[in-house]
Amino acid sequence: MPDIRTVSEEELGRQREIMEELAREHALLPAPSLAMVDTYGCQQNEADSERIRGMLREMGWGFTEAEDQADLIILNTCAVRGHAELRVLGNVGALSHTKRQKPGQRIALCGCMVQQPHMQEKLKTSYPYVDLVFGTHELWRLPELLKRLYSPHRGRIYEARQIDGERFEGLPVLRSPGVRAWLPIMYGCNNFCSYCIVPYVRGRERSREPEDVLREARQLIEAGYKEICLLGQNVNSYGRDLGNSMDFSGLLGELSRMDGDFILRFMTSHPKDASERLFETMAGSDKIERHIHLPFQAGSDRVLKAMNRGYTAEAYRKKVEFARSLMPDVAVTSDVIVGFPGETEEEFQDTLSLVRDLRFDMLFTFLYSPRVGTPAAAMPDPFDRQTKQDRFDRLLELQNGISAETQAAHVGNRYRVLVDGRGDKPGRLTARSVHNRLIHLEGPGSLIGTFREVRITGSTTWSLSAEPAEGEWQNG
Ligand code: SAM
Ligand code: SF4
Repeated sequence: MPDIRTVSEEELGRQREIMEELAREHALLPAPSLAMVDTYGCQQNEADSERIRGMLREMGWGFTEAEDQADLIILNTCAVRGHAELRVLGNVGALSHTKRQKPGQRIALCGCMVQQPHMQEKLKTSYPYVDLVFGTHELWRLPELLKRLYSPHRGRIYEARQIDGERFEGLPVLRSPGVRAWLPIMYGCNNFCSYCIVPYVRGRERSREPEDVLREARQLIEAGYKEICLLGQNVNSYGRDLGNSMDFSGLLGELSRMDGDFILRFMTSHPKDASERLFETMAGSDKIERHIHLPFQAGSDRVLKAMNRGYTAEAYRKKVEFARSLMPDVAVTSDVIVGFPGETEEEFQDTLSLVRDLRFDMLFTFLYSPRVGTPAAAMPDPFDRQTKQDRFDRLLELQNGISAETQAAHVGNRYRVLVDGRGDKPGRLTARSVHNRLIHLEGPGSLIGTFREVRITGSTTWSLSAEPAEGEWQNG
């Protein structure tokens, strides 16, 4: 049984007291100190950064995007692939220069990368100008850590407990402006896919109580957010650790019955736990996106077993077919790893066949990256980098062709879309259909944050273009 405790009201109250104390100190400064929070990796990290900013704001910090203006820089890091770690380390390296130019600047690293003991050692020995390192389980303790960081006789601070996880609620949140809000419904992962570092750095599955999720969703709708994205490493196992009656389909159903004009998205769904009830719930609601991100990772049963994924390629196909039988227009997207240790050409061909047959709307393709401490990192891996890259390129080419065809099939269709931001040129806007397809259109900025009817006029591999369905934008 995982050892998961709930952080007491008293402990959280102590952090709130420190926030108030630091806010009082900040108020005496001639100008607020500025913080920069830079986020790498997935949406869960984005959501954590919104809590970091929320706490900083309560403590009187202002914000900047410019490294050379920042009194405090926090890098919220990712460890899923080696590439993400190298990017962070490269950027930390560059900060030694910035820090020399701005005496008194403090540099902090948090998140998945620094939860790994070998990374902490590396930072200790090679990056002496990093002042504070805190792991994924220390988020709620940020006020206390900042108090120490700004005390006169501090040394470098390293805090990253290796624990199964803790439950806590009520951290302040400063959300990025926009129409979309991240709403974490659970933390951690119990699946231990053999290639993946996430369970080691994020701990065991902890679901938030349904009332807490529903309350936060209600606040978001009242605050005017139009799209709520529910987050978890495997949303389909929501509620299991709580032992209560509300599973993910139940939660989705409750959320979709809330009043208001909004759309619900969710990620990520693990195929082994994606139930028929989930698809039925999706099909029965016009508030839930017509899109499922269902990572299959590999098309060969031997590789899937070595990955510890818990399903076969055939079972995966059946789930997608079932979803499409209920919702013929559902968009299906997926993740796939190329070059898992020992994956043969024949096994890679199974991945190609699955992609060819299921015709995903979009595919996120990754070259396998060994992660220290995971079972796959110790598996024999006879295939060289070039062979893997060659397979990766072939997969990409196949999917690009499919994406271009599936996108082109939407031209002429009429969709209700949420206009969500400005495009790359003046007068251009971006929008998403209920299938999570990216759509470019032209119109006034006042359309942002509204749902509109559009007609699709063109397509590329990655996006669609559209015009108002009635020839001009309607009020509303
Ligand atoms: N929990 C989600 C799931 O199981 O689908 C996704 C978690 S992970 C952050 C996102 C994707 O990164 C995975 O679906 C997988 O394709 C990829 N990934 C994870 N570990 C990887 C590794 N060691 N090398 C390459 N890709 C990896
Ligand atoms: Fe990683 Fe697998 Fe958990 Fe996803 S389900 S986070 S891939 S261990």
